Amino acid sequence: MSEAIEKVKCLIIGSGPAGYTAAIYAARANMSPVLYQGMQPGGQLTTTNEVENFPGYPEGITGPDMMVELQKQAERFEADVRTGFIDKVDFSGDVHKVWVEGGKEIHCDTVIISTGASAKYLGLESEQHYLKIGGGVSACAVCDGFFYRGHETIIVGAGDSACEEAHYLSKLCKKVTMLVRKDTFRASKIMAERVIATENIEIMFNTETVEVLGDGQGVTGAKVKNNKTGEITDIAATGFFVAIGHKPNTDIFKDYIDLDDTGYIKYAQPGTSLTNVAGVFVSGDAADKRYRQAITAAGTGCMAALDAERYLAAKGH
Ligand code: NDP
Repeated sequence: MSEAIEKVKCLIIGSGPAGYTAAIYAARANMSPVLYQGMQPGGQLTTTNEVENFPGYPEGITGPDMMVELQKQAERFEADVRTGFIDKVDFSGDVHKVWVEGGKEIHCDTVIISTGASAKYLGLESEQHYLKIGGGVSACAVCDGFFYRGHETIIVGAGDSACEEAHYLSKLCKKVTMLVRKDTFRASKIMAERVIATENIEIMFNTETVEVLGDGQGVTGAKVKNNKTGEITDIAATGFFVAIGHKPNTDIFKDYIDLDDTGYIKYAQPGTSLTNVAGVFVSGDAADKRYRQAITAAGTGCMAALDAERYLAAKGH
């Protein structure tokens, strides 16, 4: 027998700073929000070490601790925080329908999307193997760089993230080899120059990864190819970092919500959290490829809750 359909005034999808901030505001406005935490409770910040740029924490705070605090703050106002993820939606009608892991159906007056973004990987079998077993592949130097103190590491990418992470690693590691697939950086000049000026970072241009090398348990290096000369080289390293951008977690919305050509949700009205569907709002990295900060995510979470509250008030709820 199928479960009864639950009715919810405000459903929040995702549990990063955007989702929890939306939950705090919605709960304090008596909207009885229900928040589904998603695949990665706490979001991307849980893979971050120290957060030093969130106002109000003069000594800094770890990403996981900050997320625990945000959850507590939301629950203090009786936001209903649940584990589980939403894997299907139907926003075609007046009532917005969502499904929790293919089963339980929820009908929502308003939905706040705060599903964030995920790091991209190269997709090589060898990379995925060592990523899955925690054997030396990572997309977050700040989270995992510590484990490679004094070692040699590799980082792939040429954007601002790759430069920032390469520089971060250079302070911990004996040597960092940066693999850039073109003959130029995509990063801003200042970030690229900082990397170029760092003695223990070797930059290999026109270079692509053929295979992440390892002994089955852990990374031992990478086989790389110069895409101009065809030359193949093996580089020794115990850590293989990937910094090639992020993908917004918006696939389940694509039939209903307007996305840009890279999958980010488009705001229906700039300066608001409105999407093209009335009653569905967006906050955080799912709609932000420019700032991608905890504080901007929190700010847009607040906006989404306020917009949802106004939407409900206009409908006489
Ligand atoms: P970007 O999309 O800017 O850069 C991605 C990089 O990865 C590009 O150099 C791209 O190469 C490379 N890449 C993509 N796919 C592959 C692949 N399969 N193999 C090898 N290389 C690949 O992402 P970022 O995460 O660096 O930055 C995203 C946004 O965040 C940007 O707007 C950036 O400015 C901003 N940012 C700002 C920071 C700051 O100011 N402190 C810090 C970090 C990010 P190619 O150039 O060849 O396409």
